[in-house]
Amino acid sequence: MIKRTLLFLVLIFQLIGSYMQAQSLKIEYIAHAAFVIESSQGTRVVIDPYHSYRQMGFTFPEDIPADLVLITHPHYDHDGSQYFSKNTPIYRDAGLYRFNDVLVTGIASKHSFAEQIGKSGNQNYNTIWVVEIDGVKIAHLGDNEIPTTEEVQQLADVDYIIGHPRDAYYELFPNAVYIPNHYLLPEVTQHKNWMQPVDGWLTDKQGVVQLTTNTYTPIKGDTSAEILVFMPSNKVQEWSSEYYSALAFIKEGSEHEKASGDFDTIITAYDKAIQSAPFVMDGYYVKAVTLSRKQKHKEVISVLEQAFATVPDIDWGVEAKARALLAEAYVTANELTLAYHQYVWLRRHPRIVNRNTIEKATTYIKNYVENR
Ligand SMILES: [Zn+2]
Repeated sequence: MIKRTLLFLVLIFQLIGSYMQAQSLKIEYIAHAAFVIESSQGTRVVIDPYHSYRQMGFTFPEDIPADLVLITHPHYDHDGSQYFSKNTPIYRDAGLYRFNDVLVTGIASKHSFAEQIGKSGNQNYNTIWVVEIDGVKIAHLGDNEIPTTEEVQQLADVDYIIGHPRDAYYELFPNAVYIPNHYLLPEVTQHKNWMQPVDGWLTDKQGVVQLTTNTYTPIKGDTSAEILVFMPSNKVQEWSSEYYSALAFIKEGSEHEKASGDFDTIITAYDKAIQSAPFVMDGYYVKAVTLSRKQKHKEVISVLEQAFATVPDIDWGVEAKARALLAEAYVTANELTLAYHQYVWLRRHPRIVNRNTIEKATTYIKNYVENR
């Protein structure tokens, strides 16, 4: 009996073993700039997950397993890192990293329009990621400016380049398969953001392979395509009607605001936005900004405290701005310790928070500690 059980177990292990070996390297497209690269041993690297409720028109799937998350830069359409467990390593900074069977190289570079973006203290870096798995190299450019000669040289032996659908980028990498990303996806949303569908860019291109799925098995020196176009993941869901109606109320409120309309009418519109979609930050945040313009600090505090207690996942970009607003309101209300805690949070996120805000937080913390 024992012998038989053992034999059975050996068979099971052999089966599992052959299944594991049979797995091959895989590139999986989620949507927008979000990709997963999975090694033959099952290590999953997620690059640039986006935030569900900012401009995209669709949500980021909740159940994307990840062993490692790479972020090119801290903008909402590339950094939805809050969707992953606190134990998942998140890399933002350039460097050389080994993780299980994956070799990751981060090249320090700049976001496009870096000078313009950086003027008001906003973060303007962009880390180009090169992921090497099973001998295949895949690079994700994020929203990089046009790569410099030096960067192009560093990327010379890369097999796949994930980049914007723009000739100025595509033409720099004649030896790699180019994977366009970061374009409008009418197949998953009716929302029109600032982007165009990819079709226009593809019209004058040769060697385009349009995949009918969101996955692909990459190989070293792939010559089967010059441009590889993925389908978005079928796990991606269009925004709910509740969220669309919240956006309509916010538009209504901000139009009143621009026309210097009646204060109560503006606040009512924002309250309706909160009621329509209490699970997102949008309504709370615009209401808090309007209240703060009117110097209604106590109300700013109550709206934002309610938001932080209610909203399950906050885009950290809005979170950082909301916390800065809350800190100021606390200072005005003479709640110096509560302000201190907000500034500590801001100071702890030096790669995502606006640099002027970090400076302000540093000064506040110093004074607070000295005067305690
Ligand atoms: Zn972007």
